[in-house]
Amino acid sequence: MTATLEGKVLPNVKEAIENLIKDPAVQKGFKFIEADHQHTIEEQIEITEIPAPPFKERKRAENFMHRLQELNVQNIHMDSEGNVYGFRLGTGNGPKIVISAHLDTVFPEGTDVTVKSKNGVLYAPGISDDTRGLAELLAVIRAINEANIKNIGDIIFCGTVGEEGAGDLRGVKAFFNDHQDIDGFISIDGPESNGIVYLGAGSYRYNITYKGPGGHSFGAFGLPSATHALGRAIANIADLQTPSDPKTTFTVGEVTGGTTVNAIAAEASMKVDLRSSEKKELDELAEKFLAIVQKAADDENKRWETDAITVEIDKFGNRPSAKQAYEEVIVQAAWAAIEATGETPKLTGPSSTDANYPLSIGVPSITLGRGGKGGGAHTLGEWFNPTDGHIGIQKNFLTLLSLVGVEGVCAPLLQKKN
Ligand SMILES: [Zn+2]
Repeated sequence: MTATLEGKVLPNVKEAIENLIKDPAVQKGFKFIEADHQHTIEEQIEITEIPAPPFKERKRAENFMHRLQELNVQNIHMDSEGNVYGFRLGTGNGPKIVISAHLDTVFPEGTDVTVKSKNGVLYAPGISDDTRGLAELLAVIRAINEANIKNIGDIIFCGTVGEEGAGDLRGVKAFFNDHQDIDGFISIDGPESNGIVYLGAGSYRYNITYKGPGGHSFGAFGLPSATHALGRAIANIADLQTPSDPKTTFTVGEVTGGTTVNAIAAEASMKVDLRSSEKKELDELAEKFLAIVQKAADDENKRWETDAITVEIDKFGNRPSAKQAYEEVIVQAAWAAIEATGETPKLTGPSSTDANYPLSIGVPSITLGRGGKGGGAHTLGEWFNPTDGHIGIQKNFLTLLSLVGVEGVCAPLLQKKN
């Protein structure tokens, strides 16, 4: 059953959004965002063309930092992990909320990131995921400035590093280690403008390597094989059973091994991704998987009456599963804001984003989709269609303001922890 907030949005949430929509300053912000559409796209293109491979986000981070400075964001930092963030302090005594997008892309160094335009659609690796998110963040800051919004709580604007793949959420993890007083977190990252992600799918990733003596296929026959051990493991992984609710998945994503057709392989390895929206299921799956991995080595050794095959297990990814009730006020605020901008809101399934980490340590967190339309994420054919993209930004702006509160317009919806 899909969760929905249809008809369930609390009166105080509705009222906050209604009051914001009626406020002249907020209206000014809305108009500004629409008028700023082309500027936002130009900025998106400029940032896309600054490569930001995993662990090599620095150049883009410095550029983003410069843009924050130009927008008079206060107390701007680049932390030791490489995140860039700055504050818009509130009028006082409100909650502290982070709104972020990720700086890194999945694309390796040397990828051509030149943006090409065809019939109004932009093409480039990283054009949507998550450069559009960064551009939207900057557009929200401009709108707040232009409309002279008097936010009650503090807003922290953040470009994070290490969201993708092997980055393992290192940026957001470091940020929350340094800041334990955050009351809410919004990540702008996702292909559907009307989508709200409120659950975090956890993932564990492993690099498994079997090693053996190796030898000639004919001359050394009788020795155990690393590829055969790997094959035994994969066959058993393929037969694993996992629940569909909570959705729990596994895949052997990459396989390498052996050197030539007529040799008993000395080494073989696989990269494996396990996921679940619930920690308990993920841990159970990991336990079964690790037993299979060990048994494959044992069985290969038994077959040849030896102990020459060994297995190395490297867990290189650990993203926590995380959940909250869909009735949480942060989810309701986003829902009502999306409705107020004329779109039909949708709670989407668990996902793996920066929001996983704060959610796993109890900070209310959501991931909101980017405006416009995009596709082909993580491929060289990635594209972005900017038509009506400003609506997505207006929705971010409205969600943020309702949570943090605006002097004389609405009290913060978000609870302040301390
Ligand atoms: Zn992303």
